[in-house]
Amino acid sequence: SWGSLSDKNVYDWSSEEEEPDGRARPIQVLLVKDDHTFELDEAALSRILLAEEVRDREVVAVSVAGAFRKGKSFLMDFMLRYMYKQASEDWLGDNEEPLTGFSWRGGSERETTGIQIWSEVFLVDKPDGRKVAVLLMDTQGTFDSQSTLRDSATVFALSTMISSMQVYNISQNVQEDDLQHLQLFTEYGRLAMEETFLKPFQSLIFLVRDWSFPYEFPYGQEGGMKFLEKRLKISENQHEELQNVRKHIHSCFTNISCFLMPHPGLKVATNPNFDGRIVEIDGDFLNNLKVLVPWLLSPRNIDVKEINGSKITCRGLLEYFKAYIKIYQG
Ligand code: GDP
Ligand code: MG
Repeated sequence: SWGSLSDKNVYDWSSEEEEPDGRARPIQVLLVKDDHTFELDEAALSRILLAEEVRDREVVAVSVAGAFRKGKSFLMDFMLRYMYKQASEDWLGDNEEPLTGFSWRGGSERETTGIQIWSEVFLVDKPDGRKVAVLLMDTQGTFDSQSTLRDSATVFALSTMISSMQVYNISQNVQEDDLQHLQLFTEYGRLAMEETFLKPFQSLIFLVRDWSFPYEFPYGQEGGMKFLEKRLKISENQHEELQNVRKHIHSCFTNISCFLMPHPGLKVATNPNFDGRIVEIDGDFLNNLKVLVPWLLSPRNIDVKEINGSKITCRGLLEYFKAYIKIYQG
């Protein structure tokens, strides 16, 4: 069972102002400015992580990271529905209910490189009786020029260090440059971490959107694992650089997995008036969503953040956040 969760706090937000009435919304806690400096909204982050009910709870930090316009917010809105309504079977929501949360903010969403976190931290009872705090983060960047590549790699490195579960959201396939970006940002992260005998990061989940070869590798986690095994395989006749990317990724994360998602249908992808209602989403997508979200977020599957083998609380996470950002601020 879940802590005092209800859906009363989910609303559509159309402004960047303070929370006038305490309703939950995404908060930009880390921002990359035009001059490539980083700004941490320490006050906002403290408000969230030092809230009395959560500050001394062990924290599960789930990040969804990737380029803009690849359906991250759309997915995260369903993750929020699951977190708010987990107790009931019908967490997916009513057929005609518009989607709210990270996206759908009246089309005003700016494309900002940085990290947004959901202002409400969820309390969840793990099967072993421990109550943990679950934090959802949206990490976005772009990889289209030299400077944005560096900014994005830094932001992704930070979110990888901060999270216990990093969902790497990519479109259509796992391309060589997706792996190279991953290598770049995990390299940044590794340099910033103190020496440790343990792998520096926890779970990495490749989430492939619009997967279109289900006959070769079926949708879902099993197909994803087989696909990833093939994609990350190291072979003698591979170029050394390709071998290194693969070794590096394996050496950084304790768990690596993959999930193949089908295309959500043309209304989702192309209709500008689509508001997220599930009647307009392809059945195949919904069926896989019903597997994906509990696979990521069910109380039994969520992993508490660990650093050098110790479990971290929300209060501890705030300190790490501040310490890591200092490294990049120089
Ligand atoms: P974000 O920038 O990564 O957060 O992307 P959004 O969630 O805002 O989605 C960008 C656009 O892609 C919207 O028009 C969505 O309706 C659409 N979209 C959402 N999920 C998917 C998907 O899985 N595949 C495709 N092709 N489009 C999607
Ligand atoms: Mg988004």
